[in-house]
Amino acid sequence: MSEIAERLAELERLGLGRRLRLISGPQGPNVLLDGKPVLLLCSNNYLGLADHPRVREAAADAAMRWGVGAGASRLVSGTMTIHGRLEERLAAFKGSEACLLFGSGYLANLGVIGALAGRGDTIFSDELNHASIVDGCRLSRAEVVIYHHRDVEHLEWSLHRHASGRDGQARRLIVTDSVFSMDGDVAPLAQLLDAAQAYGARMVVDEAHAVGNLGPDGRGAVAEAGLEGEIDVVVGTLGKALGSYGAYACASAEMVRYLINTARSLIFSTAPPPPAVAGALAALELLRERPHRVQRLRSNARVLRRALAAEGFPVADSEMQIVALIVGEERAAMRLCQEAIERGVFAQAIRPPTVPDGTSRLRLTVMASHTAAELRTAAGVLGELTRKLDLDPAAMAPAHTERRAAPEPAHAELSAHAELSAYAHEPSRAPRTAAPFDLERDGEQPAVALSALAGPSAPFDLERELAPSARAA
Ligand code: PMP
Repeated sequence: MSEIAERLAELERLGLGRRLRLISGPQGPNVLLDGKPVLLLCSNNYLGLADHPRVREAAADAAMRWGVGAGASRLVSGTMTIHGRLEERLAAFKGSEACLLFGSGYLANLGVIGALAGRGDTIFSDELNHASIVDGCRLSRAEVVIYHHRDVEHLEWSLHRHASGRDGQARRLIVTDSVFSMDGDVAPLAQLLDAAQAYGARMVVDEAHAVGNLGPDGRGAVAEAGLEGEIDVVVGTLGKALGSYGAYACASAEMVRYLINTARSLIFSTAPPPPAVAGALAALELLRERPHRVQRLRSNARVLRRALAAEGFPVADSEMQIVALIVGEERAAMRLCQEAIERGVFAQAIRPPTVPDGTSRLRLTVMASHTAAELRTAAGVLGELTRKLDLDPAAMAPAHTERRAAPEPAHAELSAHAELSAYAHEPSRAPRTAAPFDLERDGEQPAVALSALAGPSAPFDLERELAPSARAA
């Protein structure tokens, strides 16, 4: 057996094998999964904009005007007018002086963290931060101090312990998700910022899962906390609520100039493609015009949470769109996931190393495009299957609640070499059961004549968007 085959066999033995699942058609609430119709309950297309006609049309239009690829990195010839326009719009949306587009959220975190901390510096990172933050910390070569999840006291204690840098010049950086991707809980941003200011540390906040739900008009957790313009760098992705691909860092003009000069994932990677940028522009425009989508996402989140609670799951009555049902053991989580698919509900099982050992879970995500009836049915199916598999819904509390219930350990310093919990979102596992990818069939589903896409309001007009007069306005 080759070494690779052995490693694969070991993963399977541990219940950690992963395979790609195939979705046909756009990321709507109802999709074909490996050929089987299911309710999609694990997409980050939170506002339903990835498949919105105006967003699709804007992307298609941009491809016709500017081509598909940007052709070079931002610092060579890859910065096009449309990048500048989206940066202006995102800066306004996030209440910051300036903005810088990156190829993806993963790249943005690598680039920003590496620019703000290096050898001899110290990064303070929440233990449940996303894998891209974990990897940014590792790549930076800074010392990494991991503080307990959302635990400001532990952070302050850690900051105190690392109060003096080796040469007095060392930089300190606090980094956190604002909404945690696998649990759906929110970082205490105001207290974290107080700690940062008290100890002279910079702060980076990742708003990947907050935009589209929290804050006025879905502007994110930073806006919700009234901290716009106060965080050193706010990172966000275009790949979730904004329905496209790519990412951004919002900061002061000086900080953005610094990132342009130092963020390696910006400097050494091709600029985001024009259709993705145009799609995000249209999505932002839709969000501004019709903020009711945000309300819809929040009320849908409440519907799903209440329906799950009625089934006996320990789910808080909140408006957060990410809901974790902690199963514990890997194979049990996969079994529940597979049985749910058989019953027409697709909620991906998430296992280590994406989440800490012993906390494998179903991670449910609500979209504004779900109907309340779909969400209630899904909750009923999950309740029924959980009982059928002899699992106790009442025991499925979120991981951080469980950990908090345990006696608090003496403030131990968690080292960067400790096993970090979050590495990457989990790809899917089950073998394909249906026909292989069929471009013709798959193409049929989303194929909508461009002319038929204009919604009830005027289509997104890129020409108007980018006309000099519009830019000056
Ligand atoms: N940060 C968080 C918190 C995320 O959940 C993700 C995506 N899963 C990213 C960053 C990476 O964003 P992208 O998908 O744009 O690379």
